[in-house]
Amino acid sequence: MDLKKFSKKAAKNKPKLVKFLKKLDKIVPEGMDAVVKEVDEEIWKDIDCLECANCCKTMTPTYTKEDIKRISQHLRMTPKDFKNKWLYQDEKNKDWMNRSTPCQFLGDDNKCSIYEVRPDDCAGFPHHTKKDFDLYNDTYIQNVHRCPATYEMVSKLRKRIEKEYEW
Ligand code: SF4
Ligand code: SF4
Repeated sequence: MDLKKFSKKAAKNKPKLVKFLKKLDKIVPEGMDAVVKEVDEEIWKDIDCLECANCCKTMTPTYTKEDIKRISQHLRMTPKDFKNKWLYQDEKNKDWMNRSTPCQFLGDDNKCSIYEVRPDDCAGFPHHTKKDFDLYNDTYIQNVHRCPATYEMVSKLRKRIEKEYEW
């Protein structure tokens, strides 16, 4: 995947996608869940995360207490040493996050070296069908120029909604 090309295209189209997501904050078309499910299935036919890994290269997951316990155990470290080595705690919301990007667990082959015990946040990313789609609008606004899957999802959803609904 050509991430430079993607980044350019996404930056150019981001304003109209953000406008759509903000409108979705106020009005949720009837039957939205079914459309989201359909579009989500469609976009994954053309996207291979192993050719991308842009989330692991440019963003940080948030680590829950359970994540830290599980991963440090897997690495035969204490949770304290694990945190000291790689994480910092956000002052405002107290979330534990990676100190640097790309993620220290990302391999040259774009594979996660702790895949089976990775943070829940990574396992659920990009959160398209985790909850009602509109509950994650702020997350999509943050990610739409970084995650090709979210970019395709929001672009296709926008086209469908604007074509099929009066809103
Ligand atoms: S979730 Fe998005 S950013 Fe992460 S690897 Fe897949 S397409 Fe790329
Ligand atoms: S823990 Fe694994 S999946 Fe999560 S950001 Fe790091 S490399 Fe990516």
